Amino acid sequence: MKKISILGSTGSIGTQTLEIVRNNPDLEVVAVAAGTNVDLMEKQIREFHPLKAAMWSEEAADELAIRVADTGVKIVSGMDGLIEISTMEEAEVLVTAIVGMIGIRPTIAAIECGKTIALANKETLVTAGHIIMPLAAKHGVDILPVDSEHSAIFQSMNGENKTRVSKIILTASGGPFRGKKREELSKMTMEDALKHPNWSMGRKVTIDSATLVNKGLEVMEAKWLFDVSLEQIQVVVHPQSIIHSAVEYVDGGIMAQLGAPDMKLPIQYALFYPDRRPMNGKRVDFFELGQLTFEEPDIETFSGLRLAYDAARRGGSMPTVFNAANEMAVALFVEKKIGFLQIPELIENSMGNHRIIENPSVDEILQTETETYEYIKQVMN
Ligand code: NDP
Repeated sequence: MKKISILGSTGSIGTQTLEIVRNNPDLEVVAVAAGTNVDLMEKQIREFHPLKAAMWSEEAADELAIRVADTGVKIVSGMDGLIEISTMEEAEVLVTAIVGMIGIRPTIAAIECGKTIALANKETLVTAGHIIMPLAAKHGVDILPVDSEHSAIFQSMNGENKTRVSKIILTASGGPFRGKKREELSKMTMEDALKHPNWSMGRKVTIDSATLVNKGLEVMEAKWLFDVSLEQIQVVVHPQSIIHSAVEYVDGGIMAQLGAPDMKLPIQYALFYPDRRPMNGKRVDFFELGQLTFEEPDIETFSGLRLAYDAARRGGSMPTVFNAANEMAVALFVEKKIGFLQIPELIENSMGNHRIIENPSVDEILQTETETYEYIKQVMN
């Protein structure tokens, strides 16, 4: 029996993780955590019988505790609650499927307790990769990527000599606005941005795909996970999302992982690594596909990707500013307070306003996040 805890169990990755648990009786959920969705959390507790559950908000935790009083599950809340869930003795693997930098401290706590991390929360590595990766190495902890591209890269490196990697080919679908120019983008709404052509994902990550900010975050995530330089990461637009990413080696050979676009595959792979388990679902049929196509990303129009490379090159606390400014800009876009093109504009302005802190501590990362939010609030007034 493999015992897992899930941070963000009510979200897109969290619910798909639970679907995998449903199909694999030798997986057991010992703890779950979410933000405020008490209804779904109650259902999950009744179905999966975890020992503990956390809600970020105390109010939500209090309500949940009343609703599930008959089950005997322990309800906790806030950051202390998330850390309690992440460090539970009973769990072997922690799935970090929470959204935002809130995931940093629980991930650190889990690594310090020797838990294997199935990492979906990309913000953790983007902002604190310089802390997380050495810490994982020190504790001998595996960080198994859940993001489909990183899982593909990880799979393409299986059994290979990592020092023989020449470059990582990170594929991008191009999102719903691929091929559009600035003039057209200026009119795009949240509803347009949420129509992703291939992947079904949470709202924030879908909008990030439309701006190519998501690909930028993935570039930074890949740099930390696979210990390569930015120059070794090439983003290639591949609209069919069949090649989930690839690795080129020094002899010119390329190893790639292909599959239907379904997040359950990388999630399941992380949960059972190094084993592969059967999975139902759509299979790739090359005859049906006919062709796979590739394009260079248009980083002038989709400046989110250009800004991400810039933030990563400047390093230190700059990726935190990139990420925090994007989070706030996406929230403003969703509230219809800014247009689509203002998302990268706010990121660029925030980066221009920031003085880099080298090797930031977790406190400095979170302080930088707060300062970036304050700066944007000031600009918006
Ligand atoms: P969702 O928005 O669908 O879900 C987020 C989850 O986090 C929910 O369970 C939510 O709870 C919970 N949550 C939010 N804030 C808090 C908090 N303060 N404390 C505790 N729980 C909280 O996100 P996704 O599943 O799409 O994404 C999760 C992470 O995985 C992100 O970092 C994303 O970039 C990454 N990722 C996602 C992919 C996808 O296909 N969706 C692909 C690759 C990476 P509640 O429901 O109560 O608000």
